[in-house]
Amino acid sequence: MFLCDYHIHTPRCGDAEGDYEEYIQEALQKGITEIGFSGHSPQYFLPERERKRESAIPEEELSTYIQEVEKLREKYQGRITVRIGLEVDFVPGKEEAMCSIVGFYSWDYLLLSVHYLDGWPFDHPKYIGRYQEEDINEVYRRYYRTLKMGIETGVFDVVAHFDLPKKFGFLATETIVEVEEVLQSCREHNMVLEINTAGFYKPIGEAYPSFAILERANKLGLQLCLGSDAHRPHEVGRSFDTALSLARSAGFRSLVSFEKRKRTFYPL
Ligand code: ZN
Ligand code: FE
Ligand code: FE
Repeated sequence: MFLCDYHIHTPRCGDAEGDYEEYIQEALQKGITEIGFSGHSPQYFLPERERKRESAIPEEELSTYIQEVEKLREKYQGRITVRIGLEVDFVPGKEEAMCSIVGFYSWDYLLLSVHYLDGWPFDHPKYIGRYQEEDINEVYRRYYRTLKMGIETGVFDVVAHFDLPKKFGFLATETIVEVEEVLQSCREHNMVLEINTAGFYKPIGEAYPSFAILERANKLGLQLCLGSDAHRPHEVGRSFDTALSLARSAGFRSLVSFEKRKRTFYPL
């Protein structure tokens, strides 16, 4: 059976541990047939002095990252398919710099992520205090508006951790109509949704996105892929059994595979 993990970090970023091959070995052990590395994109949106290796691949090491994964793709050919992707931070107003990162290589796929709201890294535990000062519903609205702008660039293949602001368990107290708008936008721009299992291990204790969002996405005809968001080798493919049963219950019948941005669908 086809099984992919498309959201895997690499030792090129300071926030991930272990060696590439340990991630691949873990995937092999777990019966994963296709593994995609998706390192954090260089912080093109920050002034050079403020860019930190702790949360992104330094721009001057982007080609090294690519070469490292290309080598492994060769080495493991016939045993596991290795894809080369990137988790790109979308920051409004910095599209030009973003495009130079994106155009740097013929990636297999690009994950769209929003981790910053007006410079606030809202999913970073270090900055969790800021939630006290914010109107939570407004946080969600701003997040989804930003995500929609990212989708509309037409640059990306997959929406990563769709409902990320729920990470620490702070939930909106009103219906956020922007969710539906973003899902509609995904359909218009042919975006794939990721079930990201890292959420099971965060305070919220459930996958991104929620089951309700998954069901709605399926009704709209969106397609699906799987990602663990592994930052350590043992995290590859974690909770994929649960993710697969969620996907099936939400009505999904296939998973997407990417090769140089081209899609193939496999039964789920
Ligand atoms: Zn990371
Ligand atoms: Fe992320
Ligand atoms: Fe990630």
